[in-house]
Amino acid sequence: MVATKRIVVVGIPGVGKTTVIDKVVEKIKEHRFTVESVVFGTLMFEEAKKLGVNHRDEMRRLSIEDQRKLQMKAAERIAKMKADFLLIDTHLMIFTKEGYWPGLPIEILKALSPSNLILIEALPKEIISRRRRDSGRYRDSVDEGEIIRETEIARGMLSATGVITGVPMLIVMNKEDYIEGATQRILEALGVM
Ligand code: AMP
Ligand code: MG
Repeated sequence: MVATKRIVVVGIPGVGKTTVIDKVVEKIKEHRFTVESVVFGTLMFEEAKKLGVNHRDEMRRLSIEDQRKLQMKAAERIAKMKADFLLIDTHLMIFTKEGYWPGLPIEILKALSPSNLILIEALPKEIISRRRRDSGRYRDSVDEGEIIRETEIARGMLSATGVITGVPMLIVMNKEDYIEGATQRILEALGVM
């Protein structure tokens, strides 16, 4: 039995986080470890519905105070989850009207207590086309320049998160036609080969 790994997976919207996580989960299962994945935003949305929020993409329009409460509730639930490998699908920053708001401030990081941080990146062109294709979502539509800016901000946020947690930060490129590459790199980092 390996020590529990709590893996926080982040990346700007449209990099393909959820797809990569699903693949990683599938592979870890083949190795007979217990593995869970949780979408932070889904837990927040369950709570947000009680406030009358109708869509997950409406949450970032709530007041920061309300978002912070939802954020802490989600983190507290995740803190109680157990598995050999727990993958947490979340965001370094949220695009609110007041500006970029940290998805992983210090108190949330304390609750989640990650063992690994993984930032997924992708080519701006692929991110844009994935955001456009994602018809069930209300993605903010932006150009390539804005994607590059978001990517840079994410890297800065990742550094801060690394310093706070003291855990390794892996940056993985997710190529649309080669998801196996990203999946393999993550499995290798987690010692599942
Ligand atoms: P997702 O389905 O991963 O795009 O998440 C949906 C929404 O959940 C995001 O747009 C945010 O409003 C919210 N969310 C997800 N993770 C966090 C977090 N760590 N802190 C605050 N809000 C979050
Ligand atoms: Mg997702």
